[in-house]
Amino acid sequence: MASLMASLAGWQEGIVWGLAVLALITFTSTIFQTNPYGRHMQANQRFTMPARPAWLLFECPQWWAFTLTFWMAFWLEAESPSAPAVLLYALWQSHYLYRAIVYPLRKRDDGKRFPISGVVFGFVFNTLNGFVNGYAVAYAPHLVGNSWFTDPRFLLGLLIAVSGWLINFQSDSILIRLRSDGFDGYRIPYGGLYRWISCPNYFGEILLWSGWAMMSWTWAGLVFALFSVSNLLPRAMSHHRWYREKFADYPQERKALIPGLL
Ligand code: NDP
Repeated sequence: MASLMASLAGWQEGIVWGLAVLALITFTSTIFQTNPYGRHMQANQRFTMPARPAWLLFECPQWWAFTLTFWMAFWLEAESPSAPAVLLYALWQSHYLYRAIVYPLRKRDDGKRFPISGVVFGFVFNTLNGFVNGYAVAYAPHLVGNSWFTDPRFLLGLLIAVSGWLINFQSDSILIRLRSDGFDGYRIPYGGLYRWISCPNYFGEILLWSGWAMMSWTWAGLVFALFSVSNLLPRAMSHHRWYREKFADYPQERKALIPGLL
């Protein structure tokens, strides 16, 4: 059975390459067509479902796919995971528990819809992504033993990932507060990194996964960070254009995604 997991190595590598190609395709296609959810959803969009269960449905594979491959690997090899591997596992799981359950419950999403095509794409992507990242962390040779805790790649990655998570959380919280009075339209967000950019939540998300890639030091982690950029950079540009068109008093000095640059 242990050889079954080891024989999946070729599959894992193939899927990581597939996701890298998908990142390229996503980047190119979302430049021309913004993913149709949230403010970019068409009024006549067909085949939609309530937004809250949609988020849960398409984000949940990140828990079980990662959990399955990670623990199967150790169980079948009759070994215990190292402390750095367990920490990476715990951070991944905590984030996705937050993203799939806590975040949709915090949002003012009553009555909002989400396209079923997006749920299907998200579900498939997240299943593959959870699988390859769980596998990569379980089998990464540098994660055996505790010395990785003092490696500069781990320490810097952790710092970047935690900063990114905090920026993402703060920025999403500012957006949530914009509707705390029951209003369900859009207002200009202020505070935090909104002072400089239109989409600090995406900026934080990209930092989070770049930090993860560095602290896990795996190809799977790097490809997920690249996928996040390919998905969120064009979307941030669309949000930014949309804000400028919608609000005549939108702060002119604000950039889309990277303070002072883009
Ligand atoms: P958005 O910024 O588009 O929207 C976030 C929430 O805030 C939505 O409920 C939205 O409402 C509301 N909102 C946004 N702007 C305003 C405004 N100006 N006034 C009032 N309400 C507003 O983010 P996404 O929905 O695209 O993403 C949500 C989270 O998921 C983010 O933290 C993002 O980083 C993360 N994510 C990560 C991805 C990855 O690749 N790792 C991919 C996609 C998302 P409404 O829905 O009505 O527009």
